[in-house]
Amino acid sequence: MLPEKSLAWGRSRNCIREIAEYGAARKAAIGADKVFDYSLGNPSVPAPPQVEEAIRELLAGEDSTALHGYTPAPGLPSLREAVAEDLRARFGAPVSADGVYVCCGAAAGLVICCRGLLLPGEEALTFAPYFGEYRVFVEGAGCTLNVVPPAADLRPDLAALERSIGEKTKLLIVNTPNNPSGVVLSAEVLTRIGEILRAAERRFGHPIYLVSDEPYRELVYDGTLPPSVLRFYDDAILCYSFSKSLSLPGERIGYLAVSDRMAEKQDVFDALAGAARAVGYINAPSLMQRVVERCLALTSDLSIYRENRDLLYGSLRALGFDCVYPDGAFYLFMKSPEPDAKAFSERAKQFELLLVPSDDFGLGGYVRLAYCVSPDMIRRSLPAFRALAETYGL
Ligand code: PLP
Repeated sequence: MLPEKSLAWGRSRNCIREIAEYGAARKAAIGADKVFDYSLGNPSVPAPPQVEEAIRELLAGEDSTALHGYTPAPGLPSLREAVAEDLRARFGAPVSADGVYVCCGAAAGLVICCRGLLLPGEEALTFAPYFGEYRVFVEGAGCTLNVVPPAADLRPDLAALERSIGEKTKLLIVNTPNNPSGVVLSAEVLTRIGEILRAAERRFGHPIYLVSDEPYRELVYDGTLPPSVLRFYDDAILCYSFSKSLSLPGERIGYLAVSDRMAEKQDVFDALAGAARAVGYINAPSLMQRVVERCLALTSDLSIYRENRDLLYGSLRALGFDCVYPDGAFYLFMKSPEPDAKAFSERAKQFELLLVPSDDFGLGGYVRLAYCVSPDMIRRSLPAFRALAETYGL
């Protein structure tokens, strides 16, 4: 007898991967240049040159046993200091080194938060549309994920949030910029979320933690970096990853940062450290810890994503498709011209367009286009979108 949930997660077909696999088979059959693959959120720009330079210097200059050896479980002290300093300097976030836990990307950070903050039977909330893995992370902790439906413009519906919080609610996960909608949470929205959570904490007499999942923090195209969630609410934890900002998704490196203003900061940090230990996520990759310490405020060249965003959004709107304007991340969320997004995605395949139906993001009726692709592919795909639009009379 094996754990039923683990079996189910292991066997369930992830829709994004399924479409990507279909795309790989199509590319092999008809040629890569004939397939317009918008399925995967894998960065399409290289890491900045400083990453390679740092790796070379470290390999050449450091003692190999130290370089590849274990680090302290929560990360190298110098990196934890540097992360806290960076968060204070760039975001005005109340963070000290002793609140930073270096971990294997945002996925590990989220799992650690779910295991470290939730008791079995308690509930987590998130806004739709959301990154589908949240459900696995929360249910893996023996808890339930409840989903707050969005407002008509796909931004968080704050009245619905207020209605959704109950006695068992212990955690709210927000994701800004959002995968799959590209929506960025403004200071006004964060202020209001903070007010709602504080009122609910008073009402229910226990902390409700806000976990802000921010792997796309630097991928914003119309102005300054998004405001730090830690400035708006005390019981907050930032979950960050270098996967997208430095184009290092395979290297598994990121961090958690617990707010200095959290009343039970030390207990929460200890519970997170204990949860990390329980799931074996201690000691993020040692070489990468040293690399990101040298590259903290750098990013890959993100200008191609902006170019892609503008090209794709402008072109699809001109063809009559209804799209959410993406403030950030590298996803475009487009309304399906028919209610069934899966049927729309299937029809798009006839034009070699690979679009991910939104159902796995907790919301029907949309498709997600990952525009971390070459601008040339977008240009070449436009006649296919035109032909697709015509089949719907757009
Ligand atoms: N959260 C969101 C919203 C994501 O889109 C992803 C990956 O695509 C993750 C978390 C996990 O990222 P990481 O590579 O840091 O584990």
